[in-house]
Amino acid sequence: MLSYSETFVQEIHDPILDQAGARLLIKREDLNHPLVSGNKWWKLKYNLMEAVKLRHHTLLTFGGAYSNHIYATAAAAYEMGLKSIGIIRGEETLPLNTTLSFAASKGMRLHYVSRESYRNKTAQPFIENLHTQFGDFYLIPEGGTNQLAVKGVTAFAQTLGTDFNYLCCAAGTGGTMAGLINGVSPQKKVIGFPVLKGGQFLNEEIEKLLTSPRNNWQLITDYHFGGYGKMPLKLIDFIRNFELNHSIRLDPVYTGKAMFGLLHTISMDFFPKGSAILFLHTGGLR
Ligand SMILES: *Cc1c(COP(=O)(O)O)cnc(C)c1O
Repeated sequence: MLSYSETFVQEIHDPILDQAGARLLIKREDLNHPLVSGNKWWKLKYNLMEAVKLRHHTLLTFGGAYSNHIYATAAAAYEMGLKSIGIIRGEETLPLNTTLSFAASKGMRLHYVSRESYRNKTAQPFIENLHTQFGDFYLIPEGGTNQLAVKGVTAFAQTLGTDFNYLCCAAGTGGTMAGLINGVSPQKKVIGFPVLKGGQFLNEEIEKLLTSPRNNWQLITDYHFGGYGKMPLKLIDFIRNFELNHSIRLDPVYTGKAMFGLLHTISMDFFPKGSAILFLHTGGLR
């Protein structure tokens, strides 16, 4: 299996929290692996086991040129002695950016497809065509979310103990959030901050991934900062100040937006006094 480092919970102190009478704890899952960090480790865990069990030698997955999932999959495949293929949306631009040059350095074979054909990536003819080109592979969907990914995050959630009332995280595909909802006791509430514009669509996606219907969860969709990958100065300033004050780095695509949203939500007295809020640092830094 992939190597794993135990992580810890770090309490944050801030006037916003004193005012609201709430405690904020951060689960430093960003530190669980140097390359396959955060939620990506847990999302890959059972997929890697399945690929090995089914005797596949190659992982194939999909992503944009800045995808953390592409980065993590390349590193995980390398560590497991598997080959990897990345189907990348859009045209190749040289020199490769840091994500793709890292992936290539881990032996990932990069295959670019036009934005139009990328849209068909889940269609059977498209996948058959990939098999014709590349032979056998174990397929992991874009963003890495499937049942086995959710199962991994569920297993993680079950390690979290009981010292919190709320569990908060950034949401992309919603796979991580679904796993957290599955794994925590129904007395706790899970709150997700979508980083894409129009994040309401995740309600349905997450529901599909739950092992049983639950109502102890909620999406707060106001903190996408203009959409996926958009990083206005206000967000960058927040991330810089957060690091200065708390010595914790956040990334601008996921955890920075979610933490901004969480602190803003806390300042608006969304959380009852006495709440203990656990924020999952899902990684994304390199
Ligand atoms: C991929 C990623 C997410 C989103 O996870 P989903 O399961 O797709 O919702 C959140 N945070 C970080 C740092 C990520 O890299």
